[in-house]
Amino acid sequence: MEGPYTLTEKEVDRVVARKSPGAYILDRKKLPEQTFYVYYAGRSDVDVNARLKQHLGNYSRFKFEYHSSPKSAFEKECNLYHDFNPPDNSVHPARPANSGWKCPRCTAFD
Ligand SMILES: [Zn+2]
Repeated sequence: MEGPYTLTEKEVDRVVARKSPGAYILDRKKLPEQTFYVYYAGRSDVDVNARLKQHLGNYSRFKFEYHSSPKSAFEKECNLYHDFNPPDNSVHPARPANSGWKCPRCTAFD
């Protein structure tokens, strides 16, 4: 993933310039030299830039990557969720209604 970057509106617009599906992780620590700790993992099916801005004020740094499809972003989010078990993700990543998508890592949707 790209980053870490500072989670500000200006920085999100600078580094996430494309409107695209994507996945991201968020950290609360402020100093650039501190190890990135994954407090939250998320995705957007349509616009990762806009989704990141919903977290302004609650987190300090982010990493992200674009995905070519919503399904790919969903599968990445699932992998991040299972890899890091982020403390702020209280529930398993959701899938769009009627999508039929399955988690690549568990049986949550079987
Ligand atoms: Zn899963």
